[in-house]
Amino acid sequence: MGGEEAAAGASAATPAERSDVLIVGGGQAAAELVKSLRREGFAGSIRLIGSEKYLPYDRPPLSKGVMKAGIEMDRLAFLNAAGYEKHGTEVELGVTVTGIDPESRTARTSDGREVGYGVCVLATGARAVPAPWAGTTRVHSIRTYEDARELNEAINAGARRFLVVGGGYLGLETASSLAASGLEVSLVEATPQLLTGRASTFVANWLKEQHETRGIRIYLGSMVAELEERDDEVHVRLGNGTEVVADQVVFAVGALANLDLAKEVGAECGRGVLVDNRCETTVPGLYAIGDVASYRTATGSEARIESVFNATAQAKALARVLTDADPKEVSVPTFWSDQVGVSIRLAGWVPPTVETNDVVSQSEDGWLVERYLGGRLVAIESMNRLIEYMRALPDIVDLRRKL
Ligand SMILES: Cc1cc2nc3c(=O)[nH]c(=O)nc-3n(C[C@H](O)[C@H](O)[C@H](O)COP(=O)(O)OP(=O)(O)OC[C@H]3O[C@@H](n4cnc5c(N)ncnc54)[C@H](O)[C@@H]3O)c2cc1C
Repeated sequence: MGGEEAAAGASAATPAERSDVLIVGGGQAAAELVKSLRREGFAGSIRLIGSEKYLPYDRPPLSKGVMKAGIEMDRLAFLNAAGYEKHGTEVELGVTVTGIDPESRTARTSDGREVGYGVCVLATGARAVPAPWAGTTRVHSIRTYEDARELNEAINAGARRFLVVGGGYLGLETASSLAASGLEVSLVEATPQLLTGRASTFVANWLKEQHETRGIRIYLGSMVAELEERDDEVHVRLGNGTEVVADQVVFAVGALANLDLAKEVGAECGRGVLVDNRCETTVPGLYAIGDVASYRTATGSEARIESVFNATAQAKALARVLTDADPKEVSVPTFWSDQVGVSIRLAGWVPPTVETNDVVSQSEDGWLVERYLGGRLVAIESMNRLIEYMRALPDIVDLRRKL
């Protein structure tokens, strides 16, 4: 069992430093695991090692207006230093785990130490897909606090024209935040519609209209063919021949799981490191949660869900595993997105390639989309329909494998 395993590692590891649970990564999943372990009564030692120099913080606000309003890290951190102390957790920031030896249960760190562990939890998250234009200074990602701060600095320095590359939730939220600040925004998306594989056609089209009403120019089915920084501007030619001149570009085309450590030790990986319903990888003593982890769904496809819900649900499930409790059945996944002045609530998971039969009910001030597969309700999407949304939640058939 996980709890015994965490303690049993004590005899296997000889380094001077050792923790029963070593959490690699300092994001939402890591912070939630610390809290959940203590909530479940875990009494062993916990160490969290994170590459970023900040305590684990909330990423969603980064694309929802923080970048325009200025950023206070105090508002974003899940727990302050005293909070980690209270949770009996040693936190090392600005340190990267560079390797793991599952045999001796030892991790190597970027500052040249060896740290023993009972169990190791990969909570290494994901990183933004890098922009393909080398040497550019006006092309930004939006994944980290530093990314948002850079964007904020560019706005404060007078940038007014923005091109957002990518029509997923991140790109759309960023475009919406920028436009709401009175900035000029264009958005280019490679596929013929927004949110491809991530939302119903109704929601994609509704959002397109809303963004366009707010002055955002949207180019669908087109990619950036050429990008050149010249005379304090970015000159972009799209595949459809359109020329866009911007002060700054936000590259938001997705994220890649940080899999290096998992791959190095031979853990089975797809787009994420594959875990079972106990969040365990194929390597004994090695667990994974959050954006880095993926699992097989009931339909056999691989689900790597990048969301707050997934990071917290997996952390809670793992805390129970490591305290020898059964992981509780996880409720249907829920998501939200704030853009164009409204909050959209979604529930259920639909594999990107699956076509659903969507039933839309719309009124002047809101809508609800019920998405059916083979006659079964598998997802809902809603805006200003909280009561119907809440009522429908128990009816949703969860297409993922249960955690
Ligand atoms: C701008 C933005 C907006 C979002 N909006 C929403 C939203 O509206 N709703 C929603 O549900 N979700 C949203 N998300 C997704 C959500 O924030 C993520 O799913 C969640 O943060 C994942 O947490 P994580 O801990 O798994 O990974 P991360 O947050 O990526 O944290 C992983 C951490 O581990 C560190 N790390 C990596 N490798 C190592 C190593 N070898 N050693 C030490 N440390 C390492 C990384 O530097 C990073 O700090 C958004 C994400 C972003 C970026």
